[in-house]
Amino acid sequence: MNNQTDNTQAPVTIIGFGIGGFNACIGLRTSGYTGPIRVFSTTNTLPYSPILTSYYAGGMKEYEDCFPWSQEEVDELEIEIMRNCPVENLDVQAHVVHTGQGEFPYSKCVIATGSVPTPVGFPKDCGYEPIMLRTMEDAERLRNAITNPGCTRMLVSGASMVSLKTLEACLKRNLDMTLVGINPHVLDMNALPEAAQRFEKSLIAQGVELRLSQSIKDVEVITDDMHPLGRRLKVTFANGDTDEFDEIAVAHGMRNNLEFVEKDSLEMDRGLLVNEYMRTSDPDVYAAGDVVQATELISGEKRIVGIWNNAARQGACAGRTIAYELAGETIPAEYALRGSFAMNTIQVMGALFISAGTIELGETRHAEIEENDAMTIVRIIQDEPDGTRRLAGFNITCDEDKEGNEAYDLGAMLTMQIERDFAR
Ligand SMILES: Cc1cc2nc3c(=O)[nH]c(=O)nc-3n(C[C@H](O)[C@H](O)[C@H](O)COP(=O)(O)OP(=O)(O)OC[C@H]3O[C@@H](n4cnc5c(N)ncnc54)[C@H](O)[C@@H]3O)c2cc1C
Repeated sequence: MNNQTDNTQAPVTIIGFGIGGFNACIGLRTSGYTGPIRVFSTTNTLPYSPILTSYYAGGMKEYEDCFPWSQEEVDELEIEIMRNCPVENLDVQAHVVHTGQGEFPYSKCVIATGSVPTPVGFPKDCGYEPIMLRTMEDAERLRNAITNPGCTRMLVSGASMVSLKTLEACLKRNLDMTLVGINPHVLDMNALPEAAQRFEKSLIAQGVELRLSQSIKDVEVITDDMHPLGRRLKVTFANGDTDEFDEIAVAHGMRNNLEFVEKDSLEMDRGLLVNEYMRTSDPDVYAAGDVVQATELISGEKRIVGIWNNAARQGACAGRTIAYELAGETIPAEYALRGSFAMNTIQVMGALFISAGTIELGETRHAEIEENDAMTIVRIIQDEPDGTRRLAGFNITCDEDKEGNEAYDLGAMLTMQIERDFAR
């Protein structure tokens, strides 16, 4: 049933106040939209950066440094912020969002609610809730855990970027670290074995015990009045080995925050499916950031590319498009986002890994590996039917992380090359 209420004068509504939501507001304002904007936020703080949470936990950043925008910058946007007000339901027919603080009509809406880590694979009901990292509360929990003098041995489960950033925070606090990962190598989503191995060597040199091709089978919480934490965590690994730790952090993957979207109300696969202007299957609902499945340039498929820069560009694109639409104008074609691809840079205690594009190999894609004293460089080359070759991805692992060093220069150059070859 189509609700006939006229909400065309209602505020443009942004659900989620992270990088995607913030940039949607910027896109609206810089494209001339002067009407009301209402933002729903789960916190009562300024927008924070999930990227900086591990640096705060590890003592490399202060709490205030984790909020990329100042109050003045937020004020300039002239937005109404609904604090501590998660959206519970989105009624796309009636153009209304439902929250614990009431119901709010919208004219156009941008969903930018990001994702949360899931403990999938961690033993349920073992009596211990693993530490995970995304929000400032998560960062606080990790920080408290790893600065507690009773915590000296820690296990990190997962070998992705987030796990490695968690590991680094713990190393900065001088903890005795073990990393367990289900795949044979770290950085499994981003690196080919040759590049990952070099990174693993750096981790081992830092004293990290690597338990790869391994997983946590069981965790037993043992009450121990002699232990400063009052308990020990006995971990049994899949191969039967056991070991004891004081805390366990888990980074087993992310789930996007879309529970408030009613089933079948918007086209969805792993995320919200959008076009090149970030419009969902509903003409008045847009989406940006980790919730979005948009065109990934290398594969040509719609995929989630959950990175900061992508969320920023998508948010700005959604805001800009809405501003044009509400002004009754056609958005210029050059504002379309033709697609994106993954790019990552990670540093752990001096070791550096940079990647972009794909690591998927196949009949028409092969890896070319170059190794020297300082770096391992893997280029993923795609052979085209016309005999030409395109760079579809790369990994660089460097033993030294120095701003402006050869690895950063090469990484920037190769990223531009992929962009040039695939965005055309
Ligand atoms: C530890 C860590 C390290 C990372 N490192 C990097 C890196 O080095 N480089 C990189 O590019 N990316 C990195 N990322 C990923 C990057 O942080 C995300 O891709 C980016 O923040 C996504 O932006 P977003 O706006 O989609 O989501 P977020 O920044 O998560 O913002 C979404 C906001 O919406 C809120 N929200 C959720 N549900 C609701 C609701 N129902 N109602 C209202 N609000 C809601 C959330 O609480 C959150 O505040 C990292 C992530 C983590 C966790």
